Amino acid sequence: HAARETGVALARFTPAMAARYTERLQLAGRVHMAIDRNEFELHFQPIRHAADGSPVALEALLRWPQADGSFIPPGDFIQLCEDTGLIIALGRWVLRSAARAQQQLAAAGWGMLPIAVNVSAVQFFNTDLANEFSRVIEEFGLPRGSLHLELTESSLMRNPGQALQTMQRLHERGIHISLDDFGTGFSSMSYLQHLPLDSLKIDRSFVADVETNPRNAAICRALLSLGHSMGLMVIAEGVETEGQYGWLAAHGCDQVQGYLLGRPMPMADVLVLLATLRSPG
Ligand code: C2E
Ligand code: MG
Ligand code: MG
Ligand code: MG
Repeated sequence: HAARETGVALARFTPAMAARYTERLQLAGRVHMAIDRNEFELHFQPIRHAADGSPVALEALLRWPQADGSFIPPGDFIQLCEDTGLIIALGRWVLRSAARAQQQLAAAGWGMLPIAVNVSAVQFFNTDLANEFSRVIEEFGLPRGSLHLELTESSLMRNPGQALQTMQRLHERGIHISLDDFGTGFSSMSYLQHLPLDSLKIDRSFVADVETNPRNAAICRALLSLGHSMGLMVIAEGVETEGQYGWLAAHGCDQVQGYLLGRPMPMADVLVLLATLRSPG
């Protein structure tokens, strides 16, 4: 029976799959080299108070610059890095780079603007994340609360029990935790209630046409009320238009993030933007 199943599996391994497999292996090799050669970059996107537009935090987003001046978006290599374990080394690089960026912010007088770091499920469950954050915070001399963490709902659900423990340890160290892409996973409300969360980020698929699509408006209203009833801050992702911003602010959304309010950009550009935002006097 086993032999027959192997035969079936082999029969299904098409030339297209072989090509795809080779492509993935090559890409993994390139990622590995890029880590060694320090070729990755972090960009930062502002998260702002919905009420007055003032900056509350920055989200660190990974960029892989290419020789032709383009970037390979993280969506094209994060999954591969998770599958191959490369995400551990890459995640460490991201954390240290975010800490260095935080030092630059502090030097420019923006020390209390936290940087949120995205953490994948593999990092979350296979490294001692609370310890890694503590070590970096200590090494870079960062104040408590200056690094935040973003986790997706779906990664938590891989092991809810262990997730709760790790999150508690992170929280004890003053690391705020946001639940990213909220609304796209399937976590139960009774489970979420017990997590030491600080904020929920409404996935941008619901924000996209919130003022015109009654279904998305209903979802956003529900996610806002759910987050607030749990005492959490609610952040909307992917805000691209004044219409979306207006709708969200009118419905009590606490914080907004999106191209309308600032694209992901290198730290040098963030510092320029912040200088223009600082109220005179
Ligand atoms: P995410 O954490 O949900 O990040 C938000 C994504 O939405 C980013 O895409 C950002 O550039 C994009 N975005 C922001 N505002 C807008 C908008 O107004 N419109 C549209 N259409 N998009 C907007 P990006 O940078 O391509 O990252 C994609 C995903 O890759 C992230 O989703 C996150 O899950 C993952 N990622 C990025 N950096 C890292 C990292 O350092 N580590 C890990 N583990 N994952 C990362
Ligand atoms: Mg995120
Ligand atoms: Mg998100
Ligand atoms: Mg996302």
